[in-house]
Amino acid sequence: MFVPARLVFKFLPLISSTALASALIATPALASNVASTAAKIKASPKAPAAKPISSVTVTQVKIGAADSVFSLLKNYGYSDSQRNQVFIQSKMPRDFVLTPGELYRVTQDTKAGRTELKFFDRDHPQAYSFWRTKTEVGGRQESIKYDVKLVSASGHVRGSVVENISQAVGDELVAYRFMDAFLLDYNLARVLQKNAAFSLTVQKLYDQGQFVKFGEVTHAELEILGHSVVRDFRPLKHGGTYTADSTEYKNRMFFAPVDYIKISSLYQPHRFHPIKKFRRAHLGVDFELTSGEPVYSVAPGEIIRFGRNRAAGNFIVVRHANNYEAYYDHLSSVSSLKVGEKVEPGIVLGRIGCTGYCTRPHLHFAIKKMGEYLNPLNLIRGYSFNQRFEVARQD
Ligand SMILES: [Zn+2]
Repeated sequence: MFVPARLVFKFLPLISSTALASALIATPALASNVASTAAKIKASPKAPAAKPISSVTVTQVKIGAADSVFSLLKNYGYSDSQRNQVFIQSKMPRDFVLTPGELYRVTQDTKAGRTELKFFDRDHPQAYSFWRTKTEVGGRQESIKYDVKLVSASGHVRGSVVENISQAVGDELVAYRFMDAFLLDYNLARVLQKNAAFSLTVQKLYDQGQFVKFGEVTHAELEILGHSVVRDFRPLKHGGTYTADSTEYKNRMFFAPVDYIKISSLYQPHRFHPIKKFRRAHLGVDFELTSGEPVYSVAPGEIIRFGRNRAAGNFIVVRHANNYEAYYDHLSSVSSLKVGEKVEPGIVLGRIGCTGYCTRPHLHFAIKKMGEYLNPLNLIRGYSFNQRFEVARQD
């Protein structure tokens, strides 16, 4: 006897209202697909008119600050040896980190006695699933082809940009990404006026009809000193930029040290240190990328120092013209270099990592001139040396 499984979507109250609303909008389409499939399969006219039993429950759960894949698997009853087994099977990278606030999926099939956890890669269209039944466990890697929907939001900056955009969209990370579009050109803390208008378009990514996360902010508009400043995201090989056109930064002597500028921490003379818990200046800018992404020389120069220390991890220092020095910290690996060696712009100095004082993979990039640190965002272009022709072609 075939009993069509009815998918039941249950959402935890932890999910933000926007995510919940969009997930609910997405549900009818999927439900009707399931219904039509079930109708085709139900071939026998003798099929009993029994009430369909809901055996599959899909839950999207918000990742908490203290959650790790390891701790969640433990919560779902995996023993230590089972966790090791499924990790190996899933090919999940060792340095995979969960992002608090993002969602993971729990699919429970009570009839089959099967529970599956699915974790979505933050930067790549990829997911890792772990399943268990009463007798078996397993893990697998899966490439995801997200369904992308664009949504727009607008409003006015009444409190802070982050606060107001987070409210308008329902996600704080989108607010930070929105600001990336302007930070190379404006010191927002200084130029943003109360009541400034903002609007943005952001991708929403769906997997199997379920909202997973927000994607790229494709359009950003902000009123700065009475003018509307517009930035559109331009995808480039290995990344992209919000640069308006290739001539915009012609007077800047440094290219970007990475192919995708996502700022996780600004140059600030004073800030609270996240690990050591004391007030400490942040004398560079942090670019968040995945481990292993290339880090480039930003201009012609000469290697003056490299090595490893407790705070910076693996680092490289390059001297450039006019007494500028560029610092690249927390690298996972350093290319084979010699002190005194000349480097061209765009050569790979090393790879993104999380060595030294670091909580998630990023590049700490600093620029010093005559012993004084400067804000790198005022000095670099919005694209790497290797992307320069591509930017020009799109103009
Ligand atoms: Zn830093």
